[in-house]
Amino acid sequence: MGGLFGVVSKEKCITDLFYGVDYHSHLGTKRGGLAVINSDGMLKRSIHSLKQSYFRVKFEQDLPKFDGHMGIGVISDSEAQPIAVHSHLGRYAICTVMKISNIDSLAQDVLSEGKIFTELSDGSTNATELLAQLINHGDSFAQGIRYAQSKIEGSCTMLILTDDGIIAARDYYGRTPLVIGSKEGAYCVASESCSMINLGYDLERELGPGEAVLITPGGIKPLLPAEGRLHVCSFLWIYYGFPAASYEGVNVDQARRNLGRLMGEQDDIQADLVSPIPDSGNCMAIGYSEGARVPFRNAVLKYTPTWPRSFMPIDQTTRSLVAKMKLIPNYGLMKGKKLVFCDDSIVRGTQLRDNVEIFRRHGAGEVHIRISCPPLVYPCPYLNFSASKSPLEFVTRRTIEQLEGTHDKNLKEYATYGSPCYCKMVEAIRSNLKMNSLKFNSVDNVVKAIGLPKECICTHCFDGSGNN
Ligand code: SF4
Repeated sequence: MGGLFGVVSKEKCITDLFYGVDYHSHLGTKRGGLAVINSDGMLKRSIHSLKQSYFRVKFEQDLPKFDGHMGIGVISDSEAQPIAVHSHLGRYAICTVMKISNIDSLAQDVLSEGKIFTELSDGSTNATELLAQLINHGDSFAQGIRYAQSKIEGSCTMLILTDDGIIAARDYYGRTPLVIGSKEGAYCVASESCSMINLGYDLERELGPGEAVLITPGGIKPLLPAEGRLHVCSFLWIYYGFPAASYEGVNVDQARRNLGRLMGEQDDIQADLVSPIPDSGNCMAIGYSEGARVPFRNAVLKYTPTWPRSFMPIDQTTRSLVAKMKLIPNYGLMKGKKLVFCDDSIVRGTQLRDNVEIFRRHGAGEVHIRISCPPLVYPCPYLNFSASKSPLEFVTRRTIEQLEGTHDKNLKEYATYGSPCYCKMVEAIRSNLKMNSLKFNSVDNVVKAIGLPKECICTHCFDGSGNN
């Protein structure tokens, strides 16, 4: 998905910028980038791959070259950014959390106007540079941002570092968040509200859908009103977000706990204990334990001293090895027990299948899997969700193919909780992954757990619903 952080300050801002961006590291694994207007007026940039190392490790060496009062940064799951631009709007740097589903046709429009692209992302159009080209259509940043929002299919949240301050603009449907914080003499803007806490900022407010503001050390100036219709990504609460973050005032840890509690209350398994598959199932398993009145125990643990995060291994064999090595089954708790394991989602299912096999080998009597979200049936057209490239990456679609001979038949039926097709699909996944039982949460429970009106939340990947 990716995350953004920016600072404007009367004092030097580099330390806040460095740690603020670093606190978004859970949102992306591909690249990181910083852009700062230095005290001498120069715009300095730095971009590194994060595939094999952490943001802090990669950017620590660059810190001496940054020395300013305003800067933006990004953890990107896709293209290299920030992009530096010089146009009739002035000099600026821009970074984004977005996906442009119609990138090819928009890029073609730009080229047919005789304009050029100077950056490429893995050989294709750099989406952030394309956005800059769309913004440059306007006579002002405000006009250009609205123009870009009207053209882009997907989603687009951005920070623009200008000589006058930082422009923060949230996606027109508010699919991804932006929140502003303040402390004496400084403002920050972030994707994750929890990124600013240790830096001494207090939460000012979240931007609304489609809203844009100019942030300077002197205050926040409105540029565009929040006229879009909120359709915030529900997967932020289920999977992407850090548990200490809140979106639309709803805390991630609380929503995950609610998801577990609702499932626990509705479950009919009399298990001996419930355990998370760490770290993704942690909050949910606590909630499940409360809801089902089953003891919470750590029946499998992540070896955090050396596996705090998995970097992108080069090949599938190494990926499987890493997945296996970082989790240690607590076999002392497993022998002969009826166990419920909680996880946030099933994407491909390969890792879960391996885990179930390992639990059994270590003596688990019964393995029941509970998944925090509904089955992922539809690829995400709005965010760079890594498994969205091909529908067949989803275990659901491969199962539908197994049942129907093609992966895209009766999708509405398969996505409808409790329907005959849904039950057949879940049973086939259970049997293929060799679990004693498998249950997913319903979309209704997702909406209840988050607590916002259904029409304000995107649940497209579960039920195929679109913008309202
Ligand atoms: S389709 Fe899924 S991942 Fe994409 S924005 Fe909607 S809820 Fe989020």
